Amino acid sequence: MTTILMASHQDPVDLWRDALAMEMPELEFRAHPDGGNLAEIDYALVYWAPHGLIASLPNVKAVLSIAAGCDHILADPQLPPHLPIVRMVDDFLAAMMAEYAVYGVLHFHRDMHYYRREQLQSQWSRAWPLYTPDTSVGILGLGAIGGDCARKLGALGFQVHGWSRGPKSMEGVICHHGPDGLLEMARQCRYLVCVLPLTGETRGIINERLISAMPKGGFIINIARGGHQVDDDLLAGLDSGQLGGVFLDVFNQEPLPSEHPFWQHEKVWLTPHVAGELMPRSCAKSVAANIRRIEAGEPALDLFDKERGY
Ligand code: NAP
Repeated sequence: MTTILMASHQDPVDLWRDALAMEMPELEFRAHPDGGNLAEIDYALVYWAPHGLIASLPNVKAVLSIAAGCDHILADPQLPPHLPIVRMVDDFLAAMMAEYAVYGVLHFHRDMHYYRREQLQSQWSRAWPLYTPDTSVGILGLGAIGGDCARKLGALGFQVHGWSRGPKSMEGVICHHGPDGLLEMARQCRYLVCVLPLTGETRGIINERLISAMPKGGFIINIARGGHQVDDDLLAGLDSGQLGGVFLDVFNQEPLPSEHPFWQHEKVWLTPHVAGELMPRSCAKSVAANIRRIEAGEPALDLFDKERGY
């Protein structure tokens, strides 16, 4: 019998139990804190599990992330160092993230921020639109999620740029890479969308340097992690007019403290970390596929790479 223990304070246990039962009826499902005999647990399926929980599973073979990022696992100081960690890569998650990215870009591109202000003053006032084929969007991170954002924004007729760590080629996307590539891309883009993993190299990357490289009045959409943005630099960019607006789903501190200036800022649009949810009926497929691979002695797909940090 193969046994999985789920530990998450926010994901729906019942939906995960049902979805895994459909994909892998032979798997025994348990949910923390009712893990039973912890020596029987083969896999941990986690999102912000209590620190020390994974270390208390003597026979666990892998940690499966209920998130694309693994920051919530690495934050556990007692995490056994050699345990394989499997990221969540899921088409529906990528599609949801791309929906948000498209929505954020279109919100600003079709002047919804402007029309809302005008509406509240009962003003019938038309803004002249930009020509989409001349308008560039830059995607920071061209992975599973960024690639889908790039394809969908390209299908809407934008000029799409993308930035990755190593060189990449993607049809219809002007690709940049490495530290120089970032500013080269930012200089050309009215809209930037961040879908990077949070690593030592990417923390604080949405900063004064990046903002000032963008054309004046540009817009940033961050749906990756709050640690990518320097809050004071965003606020300074918004207040000086260098930035026309930002759409933020993620924050340095979550929940965003009630006194944070983002809440009331008229150029900030924010949501409470909801850009991409992990739907059990879709994600259970990759969890089951990876467990089957590991049980067959094969490496899991989408293994977290400790050297790269993502
Ligand atoms: P992924 O497939 O691993 O792709 C990561 C991309 O970022 C790759 O293109 C990678 O470049 C690039 N990258 C990494 N480090 C870089 C660096 N130093 N410089 C330039 N590019 C760099 O990741 P994913 O599945 O698309 O997920 C991305 C992130 O989205 C996750 O880590 C998570 O934090 C975030 N996320 C947020 C939500 C939400 O609800 N807000 C939901 C899901 C995911 P290479 O191609 O060269 O490797």
